[in-house]
Amino acid sequence: MHDHDHQAVPSDPALRVKALESLLVEKGLVDPAALDVLVDTLEHKVGPRNGARVVARAWVDPAYKKRLLADAPSAIAELGYTSGQGEHMLVLENGPKVHNLVVCTLCSCYPWPVLGLPPVWYKSAAYRSRAVIDPRGVLREFGTQVQEDVEVHVWDSTAELRYIVLPERPAGTENLNEDELAALVTRDAMVGVSRVPPPGEKV
Ligand code: FE
Repeated sequence: MHDHDHQAVPSDPALRVKALESLLVEKGLVDPAALDVLVDTLEHKVGPRNGARVVARAWVDPAYKKRLLADAPSAIAELGYTSGQGEHMLVLENGPKVHNLVVCTLCSCYPWPVLGLPPVWYKSAAYRSRAVIDPRGVLREFGTQVQEDVEVHVWDSTAELRYIVLPERPAGTENLNEDELAALVTRDAMVGVSRVPPPGEKV
């Protein structure tokens, strides 16, 4: 039995990336060491687990939450998350009567330090247009029911300002510690297409 294949040649996109990288390095346009740092950052240092830690901290520490809402980049940097594409971030707090939804109608602006790279659906033309035209319909498709008396606010990200949703802390989490809370927080909840499910409930 094999658990690997024997194809020695890398896939087409991998080859194209390699060719492009070699060319850029050869022409002196990029420094290979800088590329290594960038790839390492995207693979290991940024991603939605960072955002989940920020959310959990805000849930357990009211003073931190206050700082986060007032100055997100600084409060997020307190936890050590300081990569690029997050110089200007704003945290939007969900509540019983307000649900925030984030989109980038123009392209795919996204808060890298806390969420990493955007998922394919976030970049799709369908999401980018429909999140604005029919946010409740989009939410329903993500399995998120928002009552009629809850206001839905749609926020259009730009390269200058990127948004993160601070989801509501689910019921039944009173006895959980910060790590356990962070484990509940999903990427989709921080984009605002879903809620954080109570413990034990499948997303
Ligand atoms: Fe964009």
